[in-house]
Amino acid sequence: MTDIKPKAKAKPKKNENVENKYFSHKELKCKHTGENKFDPEFLELLTKIRIECDFPFAISSAYRSPQHPIEMRKSRAGAHTSGKAVDILCRGENAVKLVSVAIAFGITRIGIQQKGSGRFIHIDACTQDDFPEIENYPEETIWSY
Ligand SMILES: [Zn+2]
Repeated sequence: MTDIKPKAKAKPKKNENVENKYFSHKELKCKHTGENKFDPEFLELLTKIRIECDFPFAISSAYRSPQHPIEMRKSRAGAHTSGKAVDILCRGENAVKLVSVAIAFGITRIGIQQKGSGRFIHIDACTQDDFPEIENYPEETIWSY
C-alpha cells in the first residue's frame, strides 16, 4: 500500500478568500491593516441586496480593524469592526433603492450621509450578540452623520 500524503493546503493570507464576483478582497479589507475579517454570511446578504438593487456598489468602507484611525477615535469600536457593516457610496434614486431593498432583506441598522460630497449609506447586520459589552445595543435604528 502506497503512502499518500495529503496535499499541503495554501494558507490564505489575511483571509483573502472572503470575496466574490461582486465584492473584492481589496474592497472588503481594512484600509489600515489590510486584514479582511469581513463576515462571510453578511457578504452573502450584501450580495443578494446588490443583485436586487442592480447597480454597482462603490464601497468606501467595509471591514475595519479596531486599530483603524476611525475606530480609535471612538470611545469603543463600532459596527465595522464586526465585519458585518458596509458603507456604499450612493445618492438620489440609488440611495432610495438601496435603503428599501436593504430593509426588505431584513437590515434594521442604517446610517445616512447625504450632504455634500462623499454621500453614502451605511448598512449593517450587527446585533446585541456582536457587542455583549454594550447595554441595550440598538438593533433597529437609523442615524445621520
Ligand atoms: Zn459605516
